Amino acid sequence: ATPTSIMVGTGRGAELGVLFRKGEALQSLKDARVVALDKTGTLTEGKPTLTDLETTGGHARNNVLALIASVEVKSEHPIARAIVEAAEADGLKLSDLTRFESVTGYGVSADVGGRHVEVGADRFMEKLGLDVGAFATIAARLADEGKSPLYAAVEGELAAIIAVADPIKPSTPEAIRALHDLGLKVAMITGDNRRTADAIARQLGIDEVVAEVLPDGKVEAVRALKRQHGGLAYVGDGINDAPALAEADVGIAIGTGTDIAIEAADVVLMSGSLKGVPNAIALSKATIRNIR
Ligand code: ADP
Ligand code: MG
Repeated sequence: ATPTSIMVGTGRGAELGVLFRKGEALQSLKDARVVALDKTGTLTEGKPTLTDLETTGGHARNNVLALIASVEVKSEHPIARAIVEAAEADGLKLSDLTRFESVTGYGVSADVGGRHVEVGADRFMEKLGLDVGAFATIAARLADEGKSPLYAAVEGELAAIIAVADPIKPSTPEAIRALHDLGLKVAMITGDNRRTADAIARQLGIDEVVAEVLPDGKVEAVRALKRQHGGLAYVGDGINDAPALAEADVGIAIGTGTDIAIEAADVVLMSGSLKGVPNAIALSKATIRNIR
């Protein structure tokens, strides 16, 4: 591409709210065959709310909610904020905690008022040697509704199943349709539950799902999708998306996301809207066509 056409394309991108940090990105985006999207904060708002909480073992709902919220106060995960906000909305009093521990990609634990409390994904409970089978039917229903099931244990015994739901961004369905119209495959990479991820993918017409990925597994997922499809653009917003953004042929960060993701990206979408992704690809195709 000529420097002039790149300059014109970059300027047009700026008008569309798409910042090309590197000139090569404008040239290489046209070769993308698959767009891999992070789920939380990219396809979704990244602001989950607590939707369900069912207890077992004679625990009262509010006691369990107060205990887990007391633990989540210390966590920075969006799920943690959902739980703390739900407890506060119900006027529950949080207690002091000791021995807080966060296991990235699994969950959190702490002692609250002398009781050991653990909150996290099913694989966290498995790690702790707890069987969540008693909640299998409820968990399946919640996941099929696109909600993320989590579990709480008190004193080493399963105490509750919890669900959080993170709304899909209004721009997401349209952006996915536009990517399909451009002839691209759309994949989703997430640390969330497989069944939840499948339900969301079905709802959005996403072609491929890589679920239950541990934070450092996103790069491996990107490599596998590249091998399978060829040119790959990765879209993400979080700290743990940075390696995947760097590994992709073109890394696209959500401008409302973390600085670390933006730094690792070739392209930045100035708004949270995902429409910038098909816009950027269409622009790349148009720019390169013009100079031939
Ligand atoms: P994602 O960005 O998809 O949520 P993470 O790797 O951050 O991926 O987390 C994977 C899973 O671990 C979450 O979906 C959740 O089930 C569990 N988890 C992580 N952090 C917490 C937390 N603070 N409280 C409860 N569960 C958590
Ligand atoms: Mg994210």
